[in-house]
Amino acid sequence: MGRTPPPILAAHQSLPVKIAILGAGVSGLALARALVERGHPREDLTLFEAASKAGGLCGSRTVDGYTYDVAGGHILFSKDPEVLAWMQEAGGGPEAFERRDRNTAIRFGERWVRYPFENGLGDLPPEANFECLAGYVHAWHERQASGSEAPADFGSWVRWRFGDGIARHFMDPYNEKIWKRPLTGLTSDWVAGRVPDAPVEDVLRASIGIRTEGYVHQAIFWYPKRGGFQAITDGMASDLSDRIRLGTRVERVARAGEGWTVDGEAFDRVVVTTPLDLVPRMVEGVPSDVAEAMEGLESNGLTTFLVALDTDEQPDLSWAYLPHHDQGPANRVTWMSSYATANAPEGRSSLLVEVTWPRLAGRPGPELEEEVLAGLAHAGLIRREQVLFTDRSDQERAYVVYVPGHAERRRAALEWMEGEGLLPLGRFGRYDYDNSDQCVAKARALAAELVPRSDT
Ligand SMILES: Cc1cc2nc3c(=O)[nH]c(=O)nc-3n(C[C@H](O)[C@H](O)[C@H](O)COP(=O)(O)OP(=O)(O)OC[C@H]3O[C@@H](n4cnc5c(N)ncnc54)[C@H](O)[C@@H]3O)c2cc1C
Repeated sequence: MGRTPPPILAAHQSLPVKIAILGAGVSGLALARALVERGHPREDLTLFEAASKAGGLCGSRTVDGYTYDVAGGHILFSKDPEVLAWMQEAGGGPEAFERRDRNTAIRFGERWVRYPFENGLGDLPPEANFECLAGYVHAWHERQASGSEAPADFGSWVRWRFGDGIARHFMDPYNEKIWKRPLTGLTSDWVAGRVPDAPVEDVLRASIGIRTEGYVHQAIFWYPKRGGFQAITDGMASDLSDRIRLGTRVERVARAGEGWTVDGEAFDRVVVTTPLDLVPRMVEGVPSDVAEAMEGLESNGLTTFLVALDTDEQPDLSWAYLPHHDQGPANRVTWMSSYATANAPEGRSSLLVEVTWPRLAGRPGPELEEEVLAGLAHAGLIRREQVLFTDRSDQERAYVVYVPGHAERRRAALEWMEGEGLLPLGRFGRYDYDNSDQCVAKARALAAELVPRSDT
């Protein structure tokens, strides 16, 4: 988090402190729930939500008995056991969740290559395996010999870290699909901890066919038995339903004495989980240089298609990456029916397909569906006659895009907000690559700063 906001009145004090929370995605909901847990009066909380339901990017949809997560397949996991337990509790307790082994792969022609790619080299055709291994060892040797620093741009970083073979066969095409721009136009500072980092011995073993694990961070995950990932945010929202104003898009936030008005209504504190790049349009008096920094923050949108299938045959995989152009525009497919039995009717299964697009280019037209289905069929993941129907969802902002200048723009934006006493929170509220558990951790930390307890 940034600068610590001064605490609001402690629970035992009597003056009401009205808090407005803009956005009822997981960040806004977790903050509200955590504030109430800490004794803040619930009647002094108001959540404004533009959409007709709460949940934001954690939302799910059920169509004809098929449930899918609108912003791509979501799994529950966390490095922080307390956050994990808190989210499970919100979603109905541990017994309301399926526990699943994470089993993921990369589609490579007709083959499955275990993920992470460098731990699956032995699954490749021999020539590609050799190219990837030789490149990996060469890059490893270069790093050892030169002691070189990680390059600042992502494209060079990929070669520096993985070598030419893995770059050519997987990292370049996959990342170009998801980021929709040349990789040298991205920074490399966001990859630490996100891109698996296999020891060279493991890669050598993998290449000659000895199984290595690689990425144990999410070896298991949880998923709600019913209602999709949204069951978690539904659980958070259930005790707050009278405090959430659905279908209420905030248009104007203005300074009023020590506090603020939100569309004319007075509040002592305003927490902003809505996108930082839209703040200049919403908040009065943003200086032009800060507005420029905010508006320059880049993100990619996402279109998902649920593909309802008339079969219960599915590979033993949670999800798969599709790096190649002949596999169509999708970069990832998730077998939603493998996450929870109730995600598809009995005897049926479902795929969830993700396609990103540059936000400023706008969402793709209706032709995308045919391109996606043709790509899946070409990749051997569906037969067209198995498809019962598809359902499409679009998200304006799904991925923060780390272009040069992002860190500086973000810093200027957050410093101004915090200096003004506006509290930014959430994936696009702070423009960082946070998963829902990290959003929850930050929301709970903010609640603790706002309502400190003598026992913590
Ligand atoms: C492809 C993909 C896969 C992911 N997979 C996972 C995963 O497996 N596990 C995981 O934990 N996380 C995952 N995430 C991340 C997760 O979705 C986000 O971290 C989380 O949902 C962000 O929540 P938020 O509340 O910060 O933002 P949002 O969900 O974006 O919420 C912001 C809310 O503000 C509302 N809003 C916007 N403007 C206004 C306005 N003017 N007035 C009122 N309301 C407004 C929006 O409608 C929205 O509900 C994934 C994300 C993506 C894109």
